Amino acid sequence: MATPSPRWPSTISKSKSPRPILTSTHPACEKNLQQWRASPAIDYCNYLNQQSTLIQNKMSQSQARARPPAPVYAQPANWVDRLADNIMEPMAKGFGLGVRLLGPFFCIALYLLVGLHVYAYFNVILFVLRKRLGTIFGMTWVGIGLAILYNLCFNHFLAMLIKPGGPSDLKRVEQVRKELKKREARKSITQEVEGDDGQVRYVEDDRFEGISADVKRLLKYRNKTIAQLEQSWHKKCADCNYIKPIRTHHCSVCNKCVFIMDHHCPWVNNCLGLENHRYFLLFIFYLMLGSLYMLTTIVAIWNHHAYKQNASLMSFLCILDAALFVVMVGFNGWNWYLAMTGFSTIEFFGHATNRGGDGTRYAYNFGSVQDNLYKTFGTKSFFAIFSPSMRNLPFNGIEWSYQSRDMGFNEKGQKTVAQAARSSRQSEEVNEDIEERLDQSTEEIEMSEISTTVKNRHDTSLDFLQDEIEI
Ligand SMILES: [Zn+2]
Ligand SMILES: [Zn+2]
Repeated sequence: MATPSPRWPSTISKSKSPRPILTSTHPACEKNLQQWRASPAIDYCNYLNQQSTLIQNKMSQSQARARPPAPVYAQPANWVDRLADNIMEPMAKGFGLGVRLLGPFFCIALYLLVGLHVYAYFNVILFVLRKRLGTIFGMTWVGIGLAILYNLCFNHFLAMLIKPGGPSDLKRVEQVRKELKKREARKSITQEVEGDDGQVRYVEDDRFEGISADVKRLLKYRNKTIAQLEQSWHKKCADCNYIKPIRTHHCSVCNKCVFIMDHHCPWVNNCLGLENHRYFLLFIFYLMLGSLYMLTTIVAIWNHHAYKQNASLMSFLCILDAALFVVMVGFNGWNWYLAMTGFSTIEFFGHATNRGGDGTRYAYNFGSVQDNLYKTFGTKSFFAIFSPSMRNLPFNGIEWSYQSRDMGFNEKGQKTVAQAARSSRQSEEVNEDIEERLDQSTEEIEMSEISTTVKNRHDTSLDFLQDEIEI
């Protein structure tokens, strides 16, 4: 006879005990219950229950972590930021295509104007200069003119050709840079130096000699790669969806991100950023000198019949150069001021409201003019800055991201008010600690001086007593 199937009692305990207590008076049920109590299935059920509770707890914790309270930054979005986001950016996108198409025409127009100046100089002016200035002074003046022309074309050409540098470009050339650095390191080890005793020694060449501590602190990160940064840097460009380190801006004309972007210049048909900004600065500098040079040369021959024979060309060039010179003085003043203070045009307006240094924003620039120019030109010599050169720059563009993060700033280079206060408190504590140690050591010195005095007096009195006894 088959045993009656047991009815599950409705009183299964929901207590935390791993094994529920079940009771029954029916003998068959009691037997089944004993089997059930002994079966591993009940343990497994309890285990599953525990796991699901754990998983639920973890999920609610991670959800709470994923939605942190919005941090309160010391500088909320100001009107300049809002203007840039809402009006300037859409406008820039619209103009992007136009500027890209017009760029080549602007460059051709520029070289046509340079060509017109060269034509006027060698066909009209040179003939008068030889008569008026004599051979030696005339040749010197022509030499100055040619030097300006060479520097103007050299810098314009390189500003056009050299890429401004951005995260995607850096990733592509990283391997080449590594090879170059290895070669440089090998070269630096084998530098030969002849000592006073006439013996040749091999010493390491310190290429960064004379560089300030500020620059050295940042140079520490120059061996880092964009692939390493990608592992910890989460900010991405909304337009090109590529990693966006600090001091990087998206150019809507080139449609890519650029390190330390200044602006997109149609006159060089290129973006101006970390790698080619120096060529642009020198181009506008020599353009200013060139327009002044041509203006003075044309004005100097205004009463000569050669000027009167070519009056329309000479007048056109005279007016053009006068206007260009006035514009270039202002333009040079503004751009060189930015280069000396270490900001790009975009960064200057972005940081304009907070340069008091209250610790809530990461300082992009160095403290001195020489260091800021070193960042742009890669040299500390003023003569070398104005000479035509294709030297490598000390920075690759991602050092600022590493440094700002190590200093506790977020990916926008900001700190919350509380964080800034905490870090300033920490630095105060360090200062207090140093002062305390100074006080302690001063006290120790004073105490040792007092004890020495007491000991001397004691010795003197002992000597005195000894003398007394002897007497
Ligand atoms: Zn971008
Ligand atoms: Zn651009």
